Amino acid sequence: MNARVVVQAEALTRHYGVGRGRSVKALTDVGFALHAGETLAVVGESGCGKSTLARVVAMIEAPDAGRLHIDGMDAAAADRRGRRQLRQKVQVVFQDPFGSLNPRKKIGTIIAEPLHINTRLGRRERVARVRAVMAQVGLNPDWANRYPHMFSGGQRQRVAIARALMLEPSVLVADEPVSALDVSIQAQVLNLFADLQRELGLAYLFITHDLSVVRHIADRVLVMYLGRVVESGAAERIFDAPAHPYTKALLASTPAVDPALRHTHIGLSGEPPSPINPPAGCAFHPRCPYAGPRCSSERPLLQEFDGRDVACHFAPEIASGARKPAVAAGPMHPAEPAAASTQ
Ligand code: SF4
Repeated sequence: MNARVVVQAEALTRHYGVGRGRSVKALTDVGFALHAGETLAVVGESGCGKSTLARVVAMIEAPDAGRLHIDGMDAAAADRRGRRQLRQKVQVVFQDPFGSLNPRKKIGTIIAEPLHINTRLGRRERVARVRAVMAQVGLNPDWANRYPHMFSGGQRQRVAIARALMLEPSVLVADEPVSALDVSIQAQVLNLFADLQRELGLAYLFITHDLSVVRHIADRVLVMYLGRVVESGAAERIFDAPAHPYTKALLASTPAVDPALRHTHIGLSGEPPSPINPPAGCAFHPRCPYAGPRCSSERPLLQEFDGRDVACHFAPEIASGARKPAVAAGPMHPAEPAAASTQ
């Protein structure tokens, strides 16, 4: 891809202390490049670290380690003015269009807020900009004097998107932006995201647990498990031929995405282990039907394999069929007790 890189993340790490020297390892060594006009979907079960990644990229919180460049600027090295500029380049659309809008404010006021805070535009210019962006997201500009409760869920999410666009960002971080909406409305909002990307060249970091949404919108996919990337690459490549057993299991548990994978009998059972005490070696090994002794002692590195990056000791053998799952039929073994991490 030749488009400019708008977000470059290297080895981002965020651990939260929970007392007695323990920490929740929400994000460890996560890296990616996001280009203008591109959608990178971040997927995984709840607790995999995808929302933490969203907050770090949106600069809502700082990483403990790693580097984040936005439009070529180092977020950690930026002074106050620089950070303000960077925050304008990255805007967030949250999951809940009901909770993210102040019910006491008219939507025109809500949408204009970023202009109030960050620009010196006069009232007339602000009103003109609000009306233009409302039209751009499919809202009637004459509704600016209405309150959020007068809108449907899909319309409220359009209001949230309009507010995120006011400062002409390069990147939208969308954290489960359609999961609170009715299925019939989801497609309309996803189409709006696609239209805006075409018109404005926006880059999206799209956080979702819904793989059928990912198939619709993503150019590339980052699959996360217990705070680490286990597979990343072009969406088409990963959907057509997932290499990591966890990616296979995620896809198999979403039959609407790929009914063929249902016949592999690789499903996900049990809950992911605690991110306070992740299993040693490959963190997926207690749930993985391909695991061998090496998997519980040695953590696999993320390495190029077959046109994508994958963190699995046996990716080539699994892909060729030389390594078979331990369970020939039925669901995966329930999780074994996790070995203590040395981290
Ligand atoms: Fe499964 Fe081992 Fe690969 Fe981890 S490294 S995904 S446990 S086969």
